[in-house]
Amino acid sequence: MELIPEVQDVFEIFSSHGYEINLVGGCIRNFLLSKPIKDYDMCTNASPEEVIALFSRTLPLGIDYGTVHVFVNGKEFEITTYRKEGNYIDHRRPDKVVFVEDIKTDLARRDFTINAMAYNEKDGIIDLFHGRKDIENKIIRTVGDPNVRFQEDAIRMLRAIRFACTLDFTIEEDTLKAIQENKEELLKISCDRIRLELNQIILSNHIEKGIDYLKSTGIWDIIFQKYLQHILQEPLLKNLDTFALLSEEEKLKYFFVILFYNDQEVEKRIILASHFFAEYNYPKSIVKDVLEIMKQIALLPLDLNEYDGKFVCRLIKKLQNVFDIFLNCGKEIFANTSKQFIFDTIEKYYCKLDKENMIKSRNELAVHGKDLLEIGFPHNSAISIALDELVELVMENPSLNEREYLLEYLKNKGIESFIQRDRYFQTKNNAKERLKTEVILHKRLQDENEDLEERLKQLIKE
Ligand code: ATP
Ligand code: MG
Repeated sequence: MELIPEVQDVFEIFSSHGYEINLVGGCIRNFLLSKPIKDYDMCTNASPEEVIALFSRTLPLGIDYGTVHVFVNGKEFEITTYRKEGNYIDHRRPDKVVFVEDIKTDLARRDFTINAMAYNEKDGIIDLFHGRKDIENKIIRTVGDPNVRFQEDAIRMLRAIRFACTLDFTIEEDTLKAIQENKEELLKISCDRIRLELNQIILSNHIEKGIDYLKSTGIWDIIFQKYLQHILQEPLLKNLDTFALLSEEEKLKYFFVILFYNDQEVEKRIILASHFFAEYNYPKSIVKDVLEIMKQIALLPLDLNEYDGKFVCRLIKKLQNVFDIFLNCGKEIFANTSKQFIFDTIEKYYCKLDKENMIKSRNELAVHGKDLLEIGFPHNSAISIALDELVELVMENPSLNEREYLLEYLKNKGIESFIQRDRYFQTKNNAKERLKTEVILHKRLQDENEDLEERLKQLIKE
């Protein structure tokens, strides 16, 4: 195994002080698979304090578990003291970590045979659990009894599926059976750990394999039953070629829209999806877009006459960077249904638009608020309404983005018409505010167990 210079440096520092040092885990696996190596994790018989003493730059993140991060030439390495784990509490984390003298015990606590190999310059590749053979046969197998290993730490079940679909491997029979038998243990695992593995399954090149394993083991129901309450249609993703071309963030958004959207009960699904995202701590950037796409799909009119270039521009303005995902999700969700024509129509108008020169926000207009003040707009939100209209106009037809033309357009329409529209929205908003206060009051009265009807009637009279 050829070592990069920084790893060689680390090896030399440990050896010259009389300590053992090995590469371990994913880097050996990926080396044997001729895949790119993400990070070089190492293990040693030196204690964490001894490791810290050897390097000028270290970070004791994970020191409770024996791990020290060291920096050499700007590169970061995780170095963990040989250890075994004490008793597991709650099938999650060992209640204490016990450091050990030999690497054999350290390798035995690792999850799968393919992840339990190490390398040092004296012994070459150390393969006590036949990981090499499992790599050749493309097999995921726990080190030791799978029932025991999954009961120690239930996240390993999801990791087995994650490695199966990132590496395109098969889960060995007893390991698979043990996942089916121990699936409920996953309920004891933190949602953050689950999210990290689930995302890797969604982002893997073999997501369909991941979904199949999730379903056949019952893990799917453990995670999603509460939020979906329906049997999954087969297959979930019909258009894997489109999916494969998306960026990581887009893949997650696409997956969750397809998973949660249901035309018959959109509101309920939006609520269930937001509960799922909250429980699993998904970042706001993803949640916001998924819910917005679901909402915009649900709001689409059924009457084809309502669609034109301007309508599609308005959608693009609302959805911005996720318009493509919206379109592709819609095409997939409604393929071969009576609603397919809606997305065909949107796509038809979308194709006609000049995407290269298209503007997406007010800042890109050839006129700004102060120009509107100069031609006589009052200093209020009528300006905002006019600018919005100009954005839609120019989105559909970029060549119109000329100062003179746009100002002329507004004058022809009549400044008064924008002021009136502003007034109309204001009163509509006021009405909404009033309604909101009434609802709040209504609730408060309910809490106090008072005579609702009477009080409300009085309130309305006032
Ligand atoms: P990747 O390339 O995705 O980072 P990896 O094999 O490096 O894969 P990590 O999650 O970084 O995976 O873990 C590093 C190593 O630590 C694994 O190869 C495995 O030996 C061990 N390991 C990680 N998580 C567990 C676990 N829950 N139980 C047992 N061993 C584990
Ligand atoms: Mg790793």
